[in-house]
Amino acid sequence: MRTKLAAGNWKMNGLKADLAEVETLVANHPAPLCDVLLCPPATLISAMAQIAGASLDVGAQDCHMKGSGAHTGDISAAMIADAGGSHAIVGHSERRADHHESDVLVRAKAEAAIEGGLIAVVCVGETEAQRDAGETLTIIGNQLKGSLPDHATAANCVVAYEPVWAIGTGRTPMLEQIAEVHDFMRNALVKRFGAEGDGMRLLYGGSVKPSNATEIFAVSNVDGALVGGASLKAADFGAIIAALDAA
Ligand code: PEP
Repeated sequence: MRTKLAAGNWKMNGLKADLAEVETLVANHPAPLCDVLLCPPATLISAMAQIAGASLDVGAQDCHMKGSGAHTGDISAAMIADAGGSHAIVGHSERRADHHESDVLVRAKAEAAIEGGLIAVVCVGETEAQRDAGETLTIIGNQLKGSLPDHATAANCVVAYEPVWAIGTGRTPMLEQIAEVHDFMRNALVKRFGAEGDGMRLLYGGSVKPSNATEIFAVSNVDGALVGGASLKAADFGAIIAALDAA
């Protein structure tokens, strides 16, 4: 059985005052059945981890591939762990686009996260042009092949399918389209990693909100969600956690 995971990505949002939302979330959902993860900006990891206690995990939105050195502005896996983080998102489409991150780099970052004792949340997803061209499964297959380390396991790696055109747009794929990609990913992971691939959590991400969470969580091989905008407010993210607990 795969433990479901509700993961939130605050992106470049959140000041200390916004940690009140996390206090509310923890008060309302002290012991969810599913795993819960929040990835705030690096500036808030430490403070959020103190509030989170045992109710939820805290992670980073990126992780440098090296352990230390002359890399201005970057943070390493050891720094994330030192701040109280247990996960690192790598390969988010915004980083792939804004920072020109390739599959090779994403894989190196995932390896560094895992070697540093973190769980890597590896993101993949097609653009709208790629979907329109009928290339979705080819793109996803190539990104999985290129971005996942060979030593990825169910314990150290989570995969998030996030169609680029669904992120922050309010648009979501049809449920059949989510199922097609998630079933495809499961098959590819089992082929490459065997039982570990069967145990790896597969998250859907892209405009998940309280109103569509239940139907998305009923889709085959969807083990949870990576949530952007709706993870910023305790009420919305709490409703998504409740929907996942009920799935
Ligand atoms: C994301 O950034 O990973 C994401 C899925 O964003 P949103 O939920 O806002 O579409």
